[in-house]
Amino acid sequence: MSIANNIKSIQEQITAYSCQLIAVSKTKPVSMLMEAYEAGVRDFGENKVQELTDKYDAMPKDIRWHMIGHLQRNKVKYIVPFVHLIHAVDSYRLLQEIDKQAQKIDKVVDCLLQVHIAREEEKFGFSEEELLDMLNNQDIAKFKQVRVLGLMGMATFTDNQVQVRREFAYLKQLFERIKSKADLPDNIQMQVLSMGMSSDFQIALEESSTMIRIGTTIFGSR
Ligand SMILES: *Cc1c(COP(=O)(O)O)cnc(C)c1O
Repeated sequence: MSIANNIKSIQEQITAYSCQLIAVSKTKPVSMLMEAYEAGVRDFGENKVQELTDKYDAMPKDIRWHMIGHLQRNKVKYIVPFVHLIHAVDSYRLLQEIDKQAQKIDKVVDCLLQVHIAREEEKFGFSEEELLDMLNNQDIAKFKQVRVLGLMGMATFTDNQVQVRREFAYLKQLFERIKSKADLPDNIQMQVLSMGMSSDFQIALEESSTMIRIGTTIFGSR
């Protein structure tokens, strides 16, 4: 299968849903990204700052770049000028740094808050309690240069589809709960639910994902 065919096949599977495909191109060469670009992809996801900025420099400027990996505070400044969406905001201090760097260039940066939904300890993200505390304290309202557009989560890496479905359903329910809160500040607009990767995106679609992040199924194994 070619990259173009892989993309076409995924696009066919998601047409019935209002969901957007992010092509996760980490570790792959620009030549392969260009194949995806030629096939119509404009949303690319990377998980390392250096690789993201290198590819941004090398690729057409109408691409929307998604930072999907864990982001260190000291590297925020390198991506803020051009990044389209930061998916994995996992701490208050990171949000604070994004706000600070965005202010310097008078930009509003779109972010998703990562929620820890998996059983694995090493995965990043807020707990439900931390997230709700932060929202209840109106902590985010003061970050004028940050717009929180939704939530992101990664399910447990397992063959147990029941488990994966339960985790996605949980994230969707948390998303709806936050969305329906009466006192949300203007800079929190719950629109995006980023969940689903190559191994579990069909389940994520059924559980109302609005953005799937697909690497292996498009570009092959890493
Ligand atoms: C690598 C990665 C993906 C894509 O994983 P595949 O299994 O290759 O589709 C999605 N989300 C995040 C956060 C990733 O790091």
